[in-house]
Amino acid sequence: MKAVDYIIVGDGYAAMFFAHQLIKHQKSFLLFSEGKKSASFVSAGIINPAVLKRFTTFWLAQEQIESLKNTLEEIEKYTGKNYLIEKPVLRVFHDEKEKELWLKKADEETLNPFLSKEFISLDTIKNPFDCGIVNQSARLDVRNFFNDIMQYLEDKGFLLKEKFDYQSLDITNPIYKDIHYRNIVFAEGMGVKENPFFSEIPVHQNKGHHLEVKLSQNLEEGYTIKKKHFVFPLNDGSYYYGGTYDREQIHHEIDDAAVETLTKALSEFYPHYFEVREVKFGFRPTVKDRRPILGNHPEFKNLYVFNGLGARGILNGNYFAKELFSHIENGKDLHPEVDLKRFS
Ligand SMILES: Cc1cc2nc3c(=O)[nH]c(=O)nc-3n(C[C@H](O)[C@H](O)[C@H](O)COP(=O)(O)OP(=O)(O)OC[C@H]3O[C@@H](n4cnc5c(N)ncnc54)[C@H](O)[C@@H]3O)c2cc1C
Repeated sequence: MKAVDYIIVGDGYAAMFFAHQLIKHQKSFLLFSEGKKSASFVSAGIINPAVLKRFTTFWLAQEQIESLKNTLEEIEKYTGKNYLIEKPVLRVFHDEKEKELWLKKADEETLNPFLSKEFISLDTIKNPFDCGIVNQSARLDVRNFFNDIMQYLEDKGFLLKEKFDYQSLDITNPIYKDIHYRNIVFAEGMGVKENPFFSEIPVHQNKGHHLEVKLSQNLEEGYTIKKKHFVFPLNDGSYYYGGTYDREQIHHEIDDAAVETLTKALSEFYPHYFEVREVKFGFRPTVKDRRPILGNHPEFKNLYVFNGLGARGILNGNYFAKELFSHIENGKDLHPEVDLKRFS
């Protein structure tokens, strides 16, 4: 029989950032990965303190950015790589009115650190009203982040490449097959719907597609460009363009309408030839009140859920993994806004 402090179920941002807390605090654990491509793995990796539809910001944006930078420095110590791509987001303005609104918002105390009053004009795209720069925005090198951490977990013997089987859980002892555990953290994204202990938590899927495109003329280096969606270069010479939001679609296939939306939106501001090489999609686990869901089961106190990261998996995943760890290990209260108990 093996004994561990924690079992983690899942391999997306929620699971990885929680695993990092365990590595940092030298807790023993096993992480279950069923080997499907997570929503996290297809995500764009944008780290953005501004909401670019209405030019607002969100709860804890500054704290979340700083916390993420610290975590990525900590992870670099054991994987040897830096996954933070410090290239800012440029928001292409639709018209003069938007630009004026940006300038007005940039004077507000909460937005002043994020909305630069300096504008940029690019040659490769249509941007007759220029672009606004989002200070402190960046990108995560998503593929290397996941590939390297998974490899590290495997090398250390922390990874089990199999689906966690809920029926094999003996809660009273507490044992899972031949593993004696102290706590379990369920971080399955939309997979939580199969979890008999937490299937009722109010997370709703929001399907997102993105394209991988070959551009005939490369974009200016050093930025992530955003008009309706984000576009930026990947490591293999192609570009990421996405993603869409769709609450209604539940099937696990590519949706032609989403591909058309993306293709049309890209051609509206990229006036050169491009070729779609691949289409990918994932399901964001979203919550109506736009806050993650953390906490333990009302009856089985050592079973925890960590879900509902929504469209900000990176910032929410990192920040609330720390909060959850402090809650479990040091009894620190959870923010009521993210506590599972808010639904009871
Ligand atoms: C197109 C798109 C673009 C996005 N862009 C961004 C972005 O730029 N920035 C950002 O911050 N966020 C972005 N997001 C949102 C982000 O991806 C999500 O918030 C995040 O992926 C949620 O992470 P998670 O760990 O909760 O779930 P997931 O990433 O879905 O991970 C859960 C994993 O658990 C595994 N699992 C489930 N059940 C079991 C089981 N029983 N046993 C073993 N494994 C199991 C699943 O296979 C899955 O791999 C984007 C999402 C999409 C779809």
